[in-house]
Amino acid sequence: MSTGLTTQTELRLAKRMSRLGTETAFEVLAKARALEAQGRNIIHLEIGEPDFDTPSNVIDAGVKAMRGGWTHYTPSAGLPALREAIAEDVTKSRGVKVTPDEVVIVPGGKPTIYFTFTALVEEGDEVIYPNPGFPIYESLINFTGAKAVPLQMREEKDFRLDPNELADLITERTKLIVLNSPHNPTGSVLTRQDVKDIAAAIGDRDIMVLSDEIYSRLIFEGEHFSLMSLDGWKDRVIMLDGFSKTFAMTGWRLGYGVMRKELATHFGRLMTNVNSCSAGFTQVAGIEAVNGDQSSVAHMCQQFKLRRDKFIAGLNKIPAFSCTVPHGAFYAFPNIKKTGWTSRKLAEALLQDAGVACLAGTAFGQFGEGYLRFSIANSMENLNLALERIGDWTKKNL
Ligand code: PLP
Repeated sequence: MSTGLTTQTELRLAKRMSRLGTETAFEVLAKARALEAQGRNIIHLEIGEPDFDTPSNVIDAGVKAMRGGWTHYTPSAGLPALREAIAEDVTKSRGVKVTPDEVVIVPGGKPTIYFTFTALVEEGDEVIYPNPGFPIYESLINFTGAKAVPLQMREEKDFRLDPNELADLITERTKLIVLNSPHNPTGSVLTRQDVKDIAAAIGDRDIMVLSDEIYSRLIFEGEHFSLMSLDGWKDRVIMLDGFSKTFAMTGWRLGYGVMRKELATHFGRLMTNVNSCSAGFTQVAGIEAVNGDQSSVAHMCQQFKLRRDKFIAGLNKIPAFSCTVPHGAFYAFPNIKKTGWTSRKLAEALLQDAGVACLAGTAFGQFGEGYLRFSIANSMENLNLALERIGDWTKKNL
């Protein structure tokens, strides 16, 4: 039967969709896979996920949970036992008392970013965020209609943010500040003094802070220090952490936000509206991850450190590349300005000609120009091969 329609209807997207950015890592991964499908050999240093398997005790707990019937809805804000385990863990690691009703379990690290902006930020507000930085911050700030105010992470400062520059960017419209330590993409780690200086720069203004601490357990030198640990700051901080990086559980989709109780209630409402809940069996596995044997975490961290040492030393031997030493996470962010190439062109050439997939620094914002990002979450063998290929490429092309 004819519907009477002669033309296809136009897709009338909401305006905000044009403001949504993306995470280039997934695009480069798709491109690299397409090259592999043509028979090319590609070393994957683009995507930020541990190459290790999820620890077997956690997998066993997840399988047992599935078989044991944890396949239904859970409370939106998470299983009480997991919220309790995380509250205890964060109390110990951050040295400040956290209760289960201040913890919201969400599917991964990203939901805490999205929910924070959705719950707190509106058009006309300003949000200060690190640049270069995890691209989802800028994307989602723009999506909300707020003004994204970049705070440059400078190589001269070891890519740690400068509290004086932060102070200069704060206006009466600043609603939220995003911190990220250890930092993606540079691997910088804020010191205790940095955090104190940041607190002083913000002062007693009514500004909330999203503190993205998803790499908190992946530190090679120094210590992780959270703004929430400072006296009087817990209620002004939304602390993001999760299982993806620490326990090599990227595909499980499990993370959490820690925040004052009244905000946690709103996060719970957002969870009800968006996800209903995180998967029950992954949450049960999460309890094992937090409370069980931690030796896999220590092992991963040690391996990343060995790779970091080798890879950074190797990068620094390549003419026109120079790389500061990252103190946490699993990335290298070399300066490539002396090559005379833009980040994008160089990343593309290394993929197409040298078979090494990496990201342009600009995938992390405008201040990433002149840099590349390599994920070192790959075997030492592949990292060495990547260095060889990049070295050969530069010999031929620079
Ligand atoms: N925050 C930072 C700084 C990240 O690098 C990532 C992932 O790369 C996330 C959050 C998101 O983590 P997830 O994959 O668990 O959503």
